[in-house]
Amino acid sequence: MIEVKIDYEKCTGCGKCARCCNFSVLEILDDAVAAGNPGKCTACLKCEAVCESGAIKIVWQSRKS
Ligand code: SF4
Ligand code: SF4
Repeated sequence: MIEVKIDYEKCTGCGKCARCCNFSVLEILDDAVAAGNPGKCTACLKCEAVCESGAIKIVWQSRKS
């Protein structure tokens, strides 16, 4: 299972990650980004690469944890 983690201490709400995601996983709501459709994430890591603040991380969760 893939989890999209956003560190709101670092996130500036710039929206770059949401615009670069080809799978409509991320959305901007009230100047903050949210992972609205985490089930669609393919872990392409484009959002991590585009985020200048290092605020977004894609993590794999094992089913047992
Ligand atoms: S690119 Fe980074 S700083 Fe910009 S909205 Fe996404 S997580 Fe926040
Ligand atoms: S890793 Fe790729 S598919 Fe997943 S949220 Fe980021 S840009 Fe979208």
